Amino acid sequence: MGKRDYYDILGVSRNASKDELKKAYRKMALKYHPDKNPGDSEAEEKFKEAAEAYEVLSDDQKRSRYDQFGHAGVGGASGGGFSGFSNMEDIFSTFGDIFGGHFGSFSGFGDSFGSSGRRRRVNRGSNLRVKVTLNLNEIAHGVEKKIKLHKYVPCPACNGTGAEKGSSKTTCPTCHGRGQTTRVTNTFLGQMQTTSTCPTCGGEGEIIAHKCHVCHGNGIIKGEEVVSFKIPAGVTEGMQLSISGKGNAAARGGIPGDLLVVIEEERHPELTRDGINLLYDLYISFTDAALGTSEEIPTIDGKARIKIAPGTQGGKVLRLKGKGLPDVNGYGRGDLLVNINIWTPKNLSKEEKTMLEKLSKSPNFKPNPSSKDKSYFERMREFFS
Ligand SMILES: [Zn+2]
Ligand SMILES: [Zn+2]
Repeated sequence: MGKRDYYDILGVSRNASKDELKKAYRKMALKYHPDKNPGDSEAEEKFKEAAEAYEVLSDDQKRSRYDQFGHAGVGGASGGGFSGFSNMEDIFSTFGDIFGGHFGSFSGFGDSFGSSGRRRRVNRGSNLRVKVTLNLNEIAHGVEKKIKLHKYVPCPACNGTGAEKGSSKTTCPTCHGRGQTTRVTNTFLGQMQTTSTCPTCGGEGEIIAHKCHVCHGNGIIKGEEVVSFKIPAGVTEGMQLSISGKGNAAARGGIPGDLLVVIEEERHPELTRDGINLLYDLYISFTDAALGTSEEIPTIDGKARIKIAPGTQGGKVLRLKGKGLPDVNGYGRGDLLVNINIWTPKNLSKEEKTMLEKLSKSPNFKPNPSSKDKSYFERMREFFS
C-alpha cells in the first residue's frame, strides 16, 4: 500500500519530543481541517493521515513498536492498513483535548461534528492475543500467516447495528443524543451541576426500538474470521506484533479491538540462534583435523560445504559471513559461526591402539600451540580482558 512514514507525515525528526509531535500535529490538523477545506477529499485524507501518525507516535508503546518494525509493528502489516479511525468523529473523540482549551480559534470545531460538548460513548472491541510459532526458516525470510480466529464479529442479520431489519436507531429521548445527562441541584453552597452517563441509552446517544433477534441488540455474535498478516524477517521469541482492528468486533458498530500476535520460536534441530547469528557445532575426527577435509554443514538456505585446513585445532570458529539471520530493523545480516570440535574416538580396536601408540611417540603429536591456534578459553580470556 506504500504507506508514508509517520515522522515524515508530521514533518518531525525521529527523536522528536512529545511536545514537538503535538505541535506538529496541531499545525497539520489546522491546515487540513475539513472546516477550512470543505469538499476537499485530499485535505481530508491528509487530515486523517496526520491523525493516524499522531495516534501512533503519541503513544510510547506504539511509537517504539513503530520505530522497531515500521508499519508492520502497528498494524500496517494486515494489508488493510490502519482501521482505527473509520470516520472523523473518532479522530475528534480521541484527540479532543488537543483542540480544546487554549485553542481559541477553533471554537466552531465541535459543532460541525455533532452537538458541542457531546460525550457519546464509543464501544470498543477487546483485543485478541494469539501465539504464532515460527521455524528458523520463516524467521529468516519473513512469512505471511493465515489464521482462523474465533471471535466476535458484526452480526450479519443486522449488519452490526443491533437493530432488527426495517427498524432503525433513534436519538435517545432522554439525553437527545449527547450520551450524558446533566442534573442541577440546589445545595447550601449554591447550584451544583452533575453530569452522568445517560441511563436510557447507556451513553451511546441512540436507542434501538426493535432489537435484532439474532444478536439481541448487541450487534455482534460469536463467529470466525480468517486473518492474514505478514511477519517481518528477524523477529525474536516473545515479540508482539499488533494488527489494528483485527480483534473482537465492538458492540453496535464501535471500534474493533486489535489482534496481538506473540512470536514463538521453534527450535531448529541443528542450528542454534544467538541474536542475528547462528551457531553450529561441527564434529570432525582428529585425523581429518590433521589431514584437512571438507564437510557439509546445514545453513538456513540448505546445505553448504566448507573446507577444513590441515592442522585445524579444536575450538576454532569459522565464520560464514551473511549466513545468519536478518536484523529485524533491516540493519544487515548476521553470520553463521561454525565451532570446530575434534572428535576423540572412544572405542579402539587392539590394532588401532597399537598404531596410535606408535604415533603418539612422534614429536609432532605433542601439543605445541602457537598464537594462531587459540583455544576457546584463550579467546574468551582475550575477549573479557
Ligand atoms: Zn441517552
Ligand atoms: Zn443482529
